[in-house]
Amino acid sequence: MTPPPTPPSPGRAGPWARWRDVHLHDYPSTATRLWLLIALAGLAAAAWSLSGLMRNPPQTTWQVLAGLSLVALAALFPVQIPRTSHTVLVADVFIFTMLALLGAPAAVLAAGTEALIGALRTSRRASSRISSPAAAMAAMAISGGAFELARDLLVTHGVSADVAGLAALCAVSPLPVCMTTGVLMKLMAVKRGQPFHVADWFAASTWITAMTLGAGFVAGVVFLNARLFGPVVIVVATALAFGLVLLLRAALHRQERERLAQEARVAEAQHEAELNQKRFAAAFTHAAIGMAVARPGGEVLQVNHALCTLLGCSASDIVGRPFASLLHAGDEDLFTRSMQGHGGLAPEAPVSMELRCMRRDGPEFWVVLHVSGYADPGGSGPTLIFQLHDITSRHVAEARLQHIAFHDGLTDLANRHCFHERLAVSVERSRLDATRRFAVLFLDLDRFKVVNDSLGHHAGNELLREVANRLRACVRPCDLVARLGGDEFAVLLEALQDADAGLRLAQRVLDALSQPMAINGTEVLPGASVGITFSDMGYRTVDEVLRDADLAMYEAKAGGRGRVMVFDGSMHARVAEKLALESDLRHAIGEGELSVHYQPLFHLDPHRVYGLEALVRWCHPQRGPISPQVFIALAEESGHIEVLTDWVIDQSLAQLAVWQRTHPGSSPLGMHVNISGRDLARSDLADVVQELLLRHGIAPHQLTLEITETTLMGRLDVALQTMNRLRETGVRFSIDDFGTGYSSLAYLSSLPIDSLKIDRSFVMGMQEQPQNVEIVRAVLNLGATLGRKVIAEGIETAAQLATLREMGVPIGQGYLLSHPLRAEQVSDLLAVNARVVPAATN
Ligand code: C2E
Ligand code: MG
Ligand code: MG
Repeated sequence: MTPPPTPPSPGRAGPWARWRDVHLHDYPSTATRLWLLIALAGLAAAAWSLSGLMRNPPQTTWQVLAGLSLVALAALFPVQIPRTSHTVLVADVFIFTMLALLGAPAAVLAAGTEALIGALRTSRRASSRISSPAAAMAAMAISGGAFELARDLLVTHGVSADVAGLAALCAVSPLPVCMTTGVLMKLMAVKRGQPFHVADWFAASTWITAMTLGAGFVAGVVFLNARLFGPVVIVVATALAFGLVLLLRAALHRQERERLAQEARVAEAQHEAELNQKRFAAAFTHAAIGMAVARPGGEVLQVNHALCTLLGCSASDIVGRPFASLLHAGDEDLFTRSMQGHGGLAPEAPVSMELRCMRRDGPEFWVVLHVSGYADPGGSGPTLIFQLHDITSRHVAEARLQHIAFHDGLTDLANRHCFHERLAVSVERSRLDATRRFAVLFLDLDRFKVVNDSLGHHAGNELLREVANRLRACVRPCDLVARLGGDEFAVLLEALQDADAGLRLAQRVLDALSQPMAINGTEVLPGASVGITFSDMGYRTVDEVLRDADLAMYEAKAGGRGRVMVFDGSMHARVAEKLALESDLRHAIGEGELSVHYQPLFHLDPHRVYGLEALVRWCHPQRGPISPQVFIALAEESGHIEVLTDWVIDQSLAQLAVWQRTHPGSSPLGMHVNISGRDLARSDLADVVQELLLRHGIAPHQLTLEITETTLMGRLDVALQTMNRLRETGVRFSIDDFGTGYSSLAYLSSLPIDSLKIDRSFVMGMQEQPQNVEIVRAVLNLGATLGRKVIAEGIETAAQLATLREMGVPIGQGYLLSHPLRAEQVSDLLAVNARVVPAATN
């Protein structure tokens, strides 16, 4: 229990009470009493000391003053032992020297001086500044008395005065400071209301006891020497003492400075290390890429925010799980293998891999995973650091690019490049093992161009997409469908048991493409010609395979379209033959192997010659007659058609001029001449025709140029200009084989057309298929609506003729009425009569 501090004195307090209230306000009454006791003891000691000194001779007073000055000086500069509360008491040496030389009163003043200066330095409280020197003086008075008593006792026992002085000095030297410390500690204990422990006192006195013992001994030595050698020893000892103090203070100061600097450096390094740790922790936490720290076995210890965001879960969901469990199941193997390649789940060298991770809410995503390890001093093995960088968008872009590189943009089928690569693999595989059979289908749409030109590019594209869908639907998953370009498609059939399987698939493809498609509201039959070739041909390169499949397709087209043709060796021969025929045709035009036959056209009611259609004929010197369908197509392909057309127009107009001269009585005959698609694109056709009309003196309206419907619709863009120029001169146009193409009514009404020639397939099929009659009737109505004449071709039977007459078809042509005739036969016909009885021509 802390005794209560002394209560302030009531009423008119004396100076002591006021002083006590100010300076001893926190002292309990017991402590105040003790303090007062110490102060009085000190006062008594000082009084005793002064009275003692006054009894000394005057020169002693000077010595005392000199000693006090040295003590004061030494007390002003205490040598503090660094990092301790201890000081080296140099002043004590002077105090004990004064005790030995000048007696106890001088030492009491010296001890008071030293304590006063010490208190002034270390405390701001007046109470301490009084109690410390008071205690020191009282203690020194007692100790001084003890010293003199001991010395005198030793001397009376026969010890020499010098030795007795030294021994007594050493013996009492710890006393003053121990007593002072004890008294002041007791005062503090009483003040705080705490018990006074002797052990604490001993502990606090150990250092000073040793120091004062040393000081006492040194003072004793100085005292002895002074007695032997005189006062000069004091001077030398003083100088030495102060020199020593200065050196010691300097050395200790330097040492202290260095220590403080070192401590500052250490503190700074520690601060920097803490900052670094905080920075690294922040870098880990706030890194933009996902990071995880894991035990050597892979168990996740720590994750950052970015990883949680990537995985769509919280840190607590991840920590403690094996890292591999965050990966896509399909990539766990890759992860384990990559890590094993680097010494298991503790890679010595960093490892990088691209793999998929699973988000908690489902979708997978791609990351670059970088794994490195570092030796954790506290761990059992290298700690693993996983860094995950989301590369999903890059992956998607790469996959897209890869897809674009290998796929056709319009149909999304494989493209030519992709097909070549896959086929190259198949060729190589079957070369090494003939049982690994494959087949290639080469498809070309039969009516793509017509659709594209008549319905527009968008419709053409839609058609291609629909064809692609149908192809996809009818092949097996292991087959590869590709668009090679335009309307050409190819299918690679792999793992084929036999040729029949390939053929069945080809037929399926064909059937699929023979079904009508609705394109832009129009029903279209794309149809296709398919060439197929098998690996049994022993192919060595991709080009060989495609060349033969293409050739087979070409044969399918030439053979009437809409069919499958299997490649065989003879096709090469046929191609060679075709080339030879092309070359022969070139010569034939110039060497008179060509001739023109004329098939008459008749008014059906009444029956009389309406005009003639010029039909070219080629009688090959070795091969005999060649069908115009064959060599006209050849001429178109080889670019000879223009010469041929000019020649036929020239021949037929010349012949018409002859007939006009030889049969002046007959009404002016019309001459129908067939022209091809390429002719329509000629810029000089109008000039050539006009020149020939002029040359042969034929009126332009007597010449009708026939263009097949498919050709016209395929060339509308270029045809219109040529047709309009010719129409302006009076030349007429007729659409041949009408009904086989896809004429749009909008075009028909605006084209400079005079007549429509119904395709012979409709006429010939009228008996078998009644809808053909309706088609013919529809064309008739169309002709009437548009103001165009209608001509029926291919009339072979009297029944057909009768039906056509009945329906009101005005003009007809066909074997029933007349086969194509040589010019002289036509002359005979014209000579006999324009009225020809149909039966006579059969
Ligand atoms: P096209 O213009 O439709 O000519 C009519 C074709 O039908 C002719 O065949 C003719 O002989 C045949 N024909 C006529 N009446 C009948 C019949 O009652 N029944 C049957 N089954 N056929 C009949 P050709 O002469 O073989 O000519 C075939 C095609 O070759 C022509 O068809 C025409 O497109 C083309 N052509 C003929 N000569 C020329 C020509 O000088 N220039 C051009 N560019 N093409 C020509
Ligand atoms: Mg014709
Ligand atoms: Mg025709």
